[in-house]
Formats: sequence, C-alpha cells, structure tokens
Amino acid sequence: MLTLLELLKDGRFHSGEALGAALGVSRSAVWKQLQHLESELNLPIHKVRGRGYQLASPLVFLSAKEIEANAASLVWPVYISDSIDSTNAEALRLVDAGRTAPFLVLAEQQTAGRGRRGRKWVSPFAQNVYYSLVLRIDGGLRQLEGLSLVVGLAVMRCLRELGVQGAALKWPNDVLVGHKKIAGILLELVGDPADICHVVLGIGINVNMQKAAEVDQEWTSVQLETGSTVDRNYLVARLGLQLQSHLQRHAAFGFTALQEEWEHNHLWQGRAVSLIAGVNQIDGVVLGIDHQGALRLDVDGVEKIYSGGELSLRLRDDS
Ligand code: ATP
Repeated sequence: MLTLLELLKDGRFHSGEALGAALGVSRSAVWKQLQHLESELNLPIHKVRGRGYQLASPLVFLSAKEIEANAASLVWPVYISDSIDSTNAEALRLVDAGRTAPFLVLAEQQTAGRGRRGRKWVSPFAQNVYYSLVLRIDGGLRQLEGLSLVVGLAVMRCLRELGVQGAALKWPNDVLVGHKKIAGILLELVGDPADICHVVLGIGINVNMQKAAEVDQEWTSVQLETGSTVDRNYLVARLGLQLQSHLQRHAAFGFTALQEEWEHNHLWQGRAVSLIAGVNQIDGVVLGIDHQGALRLDVDGVEKIYSGGELSLRLRDDS
C-alpha cells in the first residue's frame, strides 16, 4: 500500500494502468488498494475518468536524510515507522532491547498515540509530527527537575520560529494557541531516577492537520495558524535544534535558568484556575512556578505548591 503512495505522493494524476504496471498488479487490485488508502489512512483521492487517480494534496514523507540536511549538528540516530502503536511505546521497547541513547523515534501515523493518564493522542497519517526522543539520565534527580516544562519551551520556540506567533504554554506541559491545543507532551521514564534511567520525551505536534473530528477539545495546527503547508522534515530538524539547546542549558544550569522564561510565556499567569487532582479540585490564582517547575497557586491568600504528573489545570469560569 505504501508503494502505491510513493507513486501518488507527487499529487499528479496517474492512470490505473500505469499504477498497475509499476506495482505489477491488475487494475482491480490497484482500485482495492486505493480504497484501502482512503479508508485506512484517511487520504482523499480524486478519481477522474480518462485521467486516473490523484491525491487531494501532495505528500512529503518523513526522511532521516532530509532531517539531517536541515540540522547537520544533530547527532542522534532517527528511526522512522510508517505506522506504529505509539512512538513512546516503540522508544521504550528499543531501550529495553538495549539501543544506545540518545535516539529518536518518528512515525507517519500512530494507531494508539498516548496522552497523559491513558488518554489518546489523535495521530492521522503523514499530517503531523509524532516524535519521541530518548535520553539517558545519569545525573540523578536534578536532571529531571522541570524537564517536561523545558520540552514545552523548546516546542513553543520551534512553533514560533515556524510563524505560530501565538504559541504559548499551559502548566505543566501543553502548548496552546489561545485556548486551542497545538501540541502535547508526554514524558515516560524507565530505570531508577535516582541513579541511571532513560527518559522518553514524547511530543505530538499538529502540523498540517485541518480536520479531526475525534479530537474532543479545541485544537489547531501550524497550517491552520499560518495558512501554509509545512515541511515536516524541516520542523523535526528545527525542533531537534531547539531541544538540543534547551536541554543543554537545563543540564548545565538546572531548571532555575529557564524558570523566568517559562513563566513569561505562561498563558495563564495571574489567572483564576482550578487544579484538578483526580476527584479533588483546588481553586486558586496562578502565581507562577518554582525553581523545580512546580505550580505556585494563591489559595485563599496562602501560597501553595503543587507538582506531579496527575494534575490538570482548567481556567475558572469566572476568570
Ligand atoms: P491536561 O494536560 O490539562 O491534563 P489534556 O486533556 O490536554 O489535559 P493530555 O493528556 O495532555 O491532556 O492530552 C490528551 C488530550 O488531548 C485528549 O484527551 C484530547 O482531548 C486531546 N487531543 C488528542 N489528540 C489531539 C490532537 N491531535 N491535537 C490536539 N488535542 C488532542
């Protein structure tokens, strides 16, 4: 099926006969594969009598060579899948199999993309970026402090570089444009955080996606914000460079060095919010974050600090 896509990706018309000849199959087999492409990968295909078949818009696939051409200083190997359950899951399997970090896992499509607390990340084929960078951490807990916030900052910088000027942060690790989500971040850890461990920096960015009925909250994409289709290989390269420089600052100086910059870009700084922790809800006003990336809330005139992966912030209706 992907060979057929390789033939169609230029966005031009191809006759059924030519496609059949190139693939060594009958025209009816081509027809079946085209239907499969439309239903499985959700790729609209124009069919015009006398001219043949054409993808509604041309596709550029992810390519390690193209990524490298845009960011020669990135040293980590890149593994690209056409379709995978989740790039984070694949990254964890590769760690388990003894692959040396750092390395990067990318996919054209995720069939079970993960959000926090078992939630799903909608991941259609060849439209977005599904990115899992694996790092080996051997500097103890300090190297993990505020790490997911650092990743958010790097993603936000990358999006602004690509023209999404309104990209900003929501504690702990969402990147939004106004109230619309454009990227999600999920860090997963294996090993002993106090000694040697591996952390997977999982990042999903909506790049060229224009429709996604399954996403159950407001969302946007780079294409929707800027009006132009984005080369995902370029985006992956720029993201890698942003991550590299932010991670270097974090490793050298700790989260303290990034705290002010993060707060400055926090969309909900000073806003009245509810912090949801399972069935509990705490109402307060966002004061900022501390030097470890924990949330500082004014709760009834008293400053309180919150951290942990199970917490979610919501704006209060009256804010
Ligand atoms: P919070 O981080 O505040 O707890 P969240 O609901 O945004 O909240 P995440 O785990 O970060 O949680 O992301 C998963 C959620 O993101 C999904 O439940 C869905 O609402 C939304 N979502 C899923 N896929 C996409 C996508 N491609 N683009 C934008 N949003 C998505």
